[in-house]
Amino acid sequence: MSEITHPTIKDGWFREISDMWPGQAMTLKVNQVVHHEKSKYQDVLIFESTDYGMVLVLDNVIQCTERDEFSYQEMITHLAMNSHPNPKKVLVIGGGDGGVLREVVKHECVEEAVLCDIDEAVIRLSKKYLPGMAVGYQHPNVKTHVGDGFKFLDDKKGEFDVIITDSSDPEGPAEALFQKPYFELLKGALREGGVITTQGSENQWLHLPLITKLKQDCKQVFPNVEYGYTTIPTYPSGQIGFMVCCLDANRDLKKPLRQWSEAEEDKLCKYYNKEIHEAAFVLPNFAKKALK
Ligand code: SAM
Repeated sequence: MSEITHPTIKDGWFREISDMWPGQAMTLKVNQVVHHEKSKYQDVLIFESTDYGMVLVLDNVIQCTERDEFSYQEMITHLAMNSHPNPKKVLVIGGGDGGVLREVVKHECVEEAVLCDIDEAVIRLSKKYLPGMAVGYQHPNVKTHVGDGFKFLDDKKGEFDVIITDSSDPEGPAEALFQKPYFELLKGALREGGVITTQGSENQWLHLPLITKLKQDCKQVFPNVEYGYTTIPTYPSGQIGFMVCCLDANRDLKKPLRQWSEAEEDKLCKYYNKEIHEAAFVLPNFAKKALK
């Protein structure tokens, strides 16, 4: 098979160079590129790395690697799911790799999990090359929809207990998912007491002004907003944050409302546990001050 090349790969190393993180770049050693295509919406690259398993890259930005994806998928999901008393109907916007779906269906109370991703190529290629994440699609309570999350929410009123926005970064097809009108749509689509999490535009080292603006926008829409984060080696600066919002002003989002037993947690999660749920919202002073 002739070797597939890609502009981000030089001398056998993938380099994540972007104006979203000036002057720095994550590099991963490449064993072989297994797929590259330009879908209707984004450049899709999948390569086998020497030390992080299979890697999904969209528009030159790392989306997930087999070795550390569990950190992000578990935290963005369980910070929301365990902040809701009884989440029966859940929506994932984005999440085309299937990892968040895999986490959502770990909650036995879930009766229906809907995923809406704009790009069929990501779903198709994740099922082929990222089986550990795409396993999420196999659950009987899962429904998949291909379309723009912004449009999908337009006619959804009071339908979901939890909505998780697992989108790519603000540059590209996900741009609208970081704006206030989108948060208004999320609010309208939630049932009473509903909870949302959204990828909070990277992290406190790189994008504090953006996160501060995001939190202000969320607070104009939701009565209860908290910012938390997780550590993950292959995202810029080794961490990523989430905005967690709730329609119930009195809910303490910083403590799990529901929790698994320690034995269940050990069986179900490689990263999330009830202590790290609380720790996720403990911020260093520079971020705490900016986000006050
Ligand atoms: N965990 C990753 C991160 O934090 O960067 C994101 C993973 S997932 C692959 C991102 C998904 O968002 C992609 O599959 C992409 O197609 C989808 N996406 C981007 N814009 C979208 C939109 N407007 N509506 C629905 N899905 C969208």
